[in-house]
Amino acid sequence: MQIKTILNRVLRHSAFVYVAERLVETVAGPTLEVQLRARANSRPRCSRCDRPGPGYDTLAQRRFEFVPLWGIKVFFLYAPRRVSCTHCGVHVEALPWAVGKHRLTTAYAWFLARWAKRLSWKEVAEVFQTSWDIVFHAVEMAVDWGRAHQDLSAITAIGVDEVQWQRGHRYLTLVYQIDTHCKRLLWVGKKRKVKTLLGFFRWFGKERSAALQFVASDMWKPYLRVIAKKAAQAVHVLDRFHIMAHLSKAIDEVRASEVKALKSGGYEPVLKDSRWLLLKRPENLSEKQEIRLAELVQYNLKTVRAYLLKEEFQFFWGYKSWYWAGQFLERWCKRTMRSRIEPMKKVARMLRAHRPLILNWFRAKGAISSGIVEGFNNKAKLSIRKAYGFRTYHGMEIALFHALGALPEPEGTHRFC
Ligand SMILES: [Zn+2]
Repeated sequence: MQIKTILNRVLRHSAFVYVAERLVETVAGPTLEVQLRARANSRPRCSRCDRPGPGYDTLAQRRFEFVPLWGIKVFFLYAPRRVSCTHCGVHVEALPWAVGKHRLTTAYAWFLARWAKRLSWKEVAEVFQTSWDIVFHAVEMAVDWGRAHQDLSAITAIGVDEVQWQRGHRYLTLVYQIDTHCKRLLWVGKKRKVKTLLGFFRWFGKERSAALQFVASDMWKPYLRVIAKKAAQAVHVLDRFHIMAHLSKAIDEVRASEVKALKSGGYEPVLKDSRWLLLKRPENLSEKQEIRLAELVQYNLKTVRAYLLKEEFQFFWGYKSWYWAGQFLERWCKRTMRSRIEPMKKVARMLRAHRPLILNWFRAKGAISSGIVEGFNNKAKLSIRKAYGFRTYHGMEIALFHALGALPEPEGTHRFC
């Protein structure tokens, strides 16, 4: 059997034929070169408008890298023709196996992009003996195609989240679809300003924005302002994940300052290594941690009182009626305001100020999946960490869409992996 036979099975072109193949020995190892030519009497198609036109001339032969076979690099060799297009002028012909000036065949780009979902980009480059840049271009192609072909209909619930992506408080704004039937990253923007989120709504369009029923976000003022303006009809929910994150942050602050105070006062360092103990949900603690927590609770420390206030707040989410939840919220805030623990009081003041939006949680119950924003937040952070080495914002954006965008892929072609 000839290689041509296999190629015709996996990637057949109507207007081009595989002519011959040869194995070439190079310093980097053997390379398989496959020569292609246009079918006799076929007219080249304009790469701008895809219409056939008369041939103008033929350019020098170009190499297009194809999916490797048995660890052997494979290249297509073809001398593209130029078309004298009546609509666009003289242009290079359209080739079914590659796009534009790309040196990668489309099949190989999809192959690398699929692997880049399972392995880090660096690993993909190593395994297939290619460069990081080539893997990046492959992923970029997959993301561009997916974003151009994704279905944005029937989006009723979105979540707005922010993630720190560089040292020194540099943030990204991420917008997710959080419908129960479809969850994915929709949009990424630089910073977390009013302008940032306005950028999302401009991209999303008026019609789709008007169809939104639920928007979940943090209590971040610029977000609140834009959501009130651009999706006024939607039930705006301050979601559980973000509220609990504010409480965790407050406990962290209380603990840090109390550790310092104990140390300077010459007391026993009872709070040493207690950070995770206090941030974890009690049901997730190990037996050893449970014992330590029980010991810790005996001290009348601010940290412990803050911790107990936070744990008590968990009851809030269990209410069925927003009325009783509202009563609970008020009692909790009152008690917290009397606690004389400043970081906790700050959270209580914030919760009071946003009471209606917080109680919207109960109006949206069941309509949006509650853990989803938290899940995406963790995955986004992981992607950012894994992608450390992306110095550019664009690289980060491509990595996030590739990992979290649930983007479509073209159908009907042979799957090389
Ligand atoms: Zn044309």
